[in-house]
Amino acid sequence: MTNILVVGSMNMDIVTRVGRLPVPGETIHGLGTDFHAGGKGSNQAYAAARSGAKVAMAGGVGSDSFGLEICRKLEAQGIDTAAIAAKPETTGIALITTDSSGENSIILSPGANYSYGVEDLEALNLSLYDVILLQNEIPGTVNRRVIAMAEAAGIPVCMNPAPVTGFDRDQLRGIRLLIMNETEAEVLSGIRIADFREAISAGRMLLEEGIPELIITLGSKGSLYMDGDGKIIEVPAYPVEAVDTTAAGDTFIGAFASVYYAGKELADSLHYAAAAAALTVSASGAQSSIPVKEQVYAFLE
Ligand code: ATP
Repeated sequence: MTNILVVGSMNMDIVTRVGRLPVPGETIHGLGTDFHAGGKGSNQAYAAARSGAKVAMAGGVGSDSFGLEICRKLEAQGIDTAAIAAKPETTGIALITTDSSGENSIILSPGANYSYGVEDLEALNLSLYDVILLQNEIPGTVNRRVIAMAEAAGIPVCMNPAPVTGFDRDQLRGIRLLIMNETEAEVLSGIRIADFREAISAGRMLLEEGIPELIITLGSKGSLYMDGDGKIIEVPAYPVEAVDTTAAGDTFIGAFASVYYAGKELADSLHYAAAAAALTVSASGAQSSIPVKEQVYAFLE
C-alpha cells in the first residue's frame, strides 16, 4: 500500500441554484443549496484513498463547522487528518451560483488555506511517505519548503500547478513528476495545445527545464506521459457519456499516484487513472463521484 501525503487546499463549496444570476444590488430567491467538500488538495487525497492508498492530509481549515465537516469527511475515507491545522481564519469557501442554463458565478475565499505556513510543516515527518502531492491553492512558500524538505529526505513530489494563474515557476525545481491539464501546459510552455502532437512539443519544452517526468491530461482526448529519457506514452480517454467533469483531473492524479507509487507498471497506472477519471466524469458531483478501486477494476474488465 502506498503512503501518500497531500499538502494542499480544503474548501467547502456552497452551491445555490437560481433561475438566473442576480444583477448587482438585486436580491433573488434561490431554488436550493448544496454543500460539497472540495479543494484540489482534499479531492486528490480523497481520490488516492479511494484507490487504496494510505493517505495523510496537511493544510489549514478554520476553527468552524465547515472545517470540522471537511475533516470528518476525510476521516470517513480513512485519511489521517492529524496534520490539518485549525486556523483563526474561516475555512476556504467557494460561493457558487448556477443558473438553469449552466452559467455560474463563483467567489472563492481561500481563507485558512493561505494561513497554513512553513512553520506548520515542522510537525510533518516526510520520511513516512512514498510520495507527496502538491497543487497551487496554498502559499508558494509552503510548496517550495515542502519540495526542499522532500528533496533532502529523498521523497518524490508530484506537482499539479493548478490553478496556473500566479503559479511560481520556482516550484518546478526539485519535483519528480509534473501533472497538469492542457491549459496549464500551454501557460507553462508557451505552446498552444490542440492535440497530442502539440502536447508533446509543450512537454519537451518543460522536460528541458530538468523535470524528470510529466503528464499532460487533455480532457476527453486522453493523457500523455513523457520523461527525460525520451519515453512517450499516449493514453486515449475511455469513451463515456460526460455528465459532470468536475474533479476529473484531481481523480486522475490521486488514482495515478495511488497505484504507480505502489509499484504498478507505468502504462497500467495511466490506464487505471484514465478509467478512474472516466468514472468521475460519468456521474455528477465532485468527491461524491470519485470511484473506489473495485469500481475502477470492474470498469476495466
Ligand atoms: P477538472 O479541472 O475538471 O478536474 P482537468 O482539466 O484538470 O479537470 P482533464 O484533462 O479535463 O483534467 O481530465 C483529466 C482526465 O480525465 C483526462 O486525461 C481523461 O482521462 C479523463 N477525462 C476527462 N474528461 C473526460 C471525458 N469527457 N470522457 C472520458 N474521460 C475524460
